[in-house]
Amino acid sequence: MAQRVMITVDLFGNEVELVENPNSKKTKTMQEMFGTKDGLTCKTCKHLYCRRQSRKWYKCELWDDYFRGISEASDIRLKNQACGKYDHNEV
Ligand code: SF4
Repeated sequence: MAQRVMITVDLFGNEVELVENPNSKKTKTMQEMFGTKDGLTCKTCKHLYCRRQSRKWYKCELWDDYFRGISEASDIRLKNQACGKYDHNEV
C-alpha cells in the first residue's frame, strides 16, 4: 500500500510532513476516499439524512457503510465540502 504524506503547518508556521499510519483504524472520510466537488456542500446532497433524539445529528447514508455501529465520529457537518459521490437532492 502506498504511504500517504500530507503537508501541514505547525503552531510556529513551519511546514510539517504528516505520514499516514498504515495501521490506523480510523475510517477515512468520504472526501479522502472519493475526492471533493467544488462549490457544493453536504447540506444539499441526497445522501444526507438526519437522526433526532434530544438533538439532531446529520449522517451520510453512503459513509455509514464504512462504519461499524453509530458514533459521533460519523457525524456530518452541513457545511462540509461535498465529496465525489455527491448527488443533488431534488426535493
Ligand atoms: S456529499 Fe458525500 S459525504 Fe456529503 S452527504 Fe453526500 S455522499 Fe455523503
